[in-house]
Amino acid sequence: MCPPKTWCWNALKRYDRGLIRPLRAPRPARLSTLFISDLHLCAGRPQIQQTFFRFLEREARGARALYILGDLFEYWVGDDDLDDPFNASVVSALARLAAGGVPTYLMHGNRDFVIGDAFARASGVTLLPDPSLIKLDGQAVLLMHGDTLCTLDTDYQAFRREARSEAWIRNLLQRPLAERKAAAESLRRQSEQEKRAKAVEIMDVAPAEVEDVLRRYGYPRLIHGHTHRPARHVHAVDGHGCERWVLADWYRSGSYLSCDASGCRAVQLDAT
Ligand code: MN
Repeated sequence: MCPPKTWCWNALKRYDRGLIRPLRAPRPARLSTLFISDLHLCAGRPQIQQTFFRFLEREARGARALYILGDLFEYWVGDDDLDDPFNASVVSALARLAAGGVPTYLMHGNRDFVIGDAFARASGVTLLPDPSLIKLDGQAVLLMHGDTLCTLDTDYQAFRREARSEAWIRNLLQRPLAERKAAAESLRRQSEQEKRAKAVEIMDVAPAEVEDVLRRYGYPRLIHGHTHRPARHVHAVDGHGCERWVLADWYRSGSYLSCDASGCRAVQLDAT
């Protein structure tokens, strides 16, 4: 195949020195990190559950990592409910992703903050504190659920402080499972009604709190959910332009944020 031997040898040397490039240069792996939140999974919304499972098998399967930033479940009343068939199906779908080698992180939301170590072990996820500062492609990224940014909602913040105490959680988990489930249902209905009654601004993040947080953490990119108002905001804080991505909920269809070295983009998933 080779004409004169010397030609081959010279070509090889030039190839070695990088003078000849292969026609198809190997593409650098551009794996994305994916972020989702506010799925509010429950047995009553099977289509969203299917969308989520499909997302885990397709998009998430090729990701560098998956971050779930709270409210994966409509409510979670304790890890002793892992045997519930619906919960078990979600846990095994997550475990399949983890077994496929995709690191999966879970932050508590305001609906599922009693998710504990037994859940993490069964699903293969790593629990993340809220907030968490991570490094992504050399950039600092602050991850939050987002409820702590809504400081204008003083009633909620008071409840949150109480409900996150060890004593409150211990007290909750001591109650019978059926009772906890019934209480979660009624609490959910109550919160729906309260949400309708509250002013729109109170339910959103407080801009001053967002700026404070960005300042405190050294002007990172911020990614959070909770408000169900998907958007990209840019905050000018002390002369730094900080990007803030708000993740979408999964009520009508699924969606995720995909980030790599070139930046982030929000992607909508088709409903199943
Ligand atoms: Mn929330």
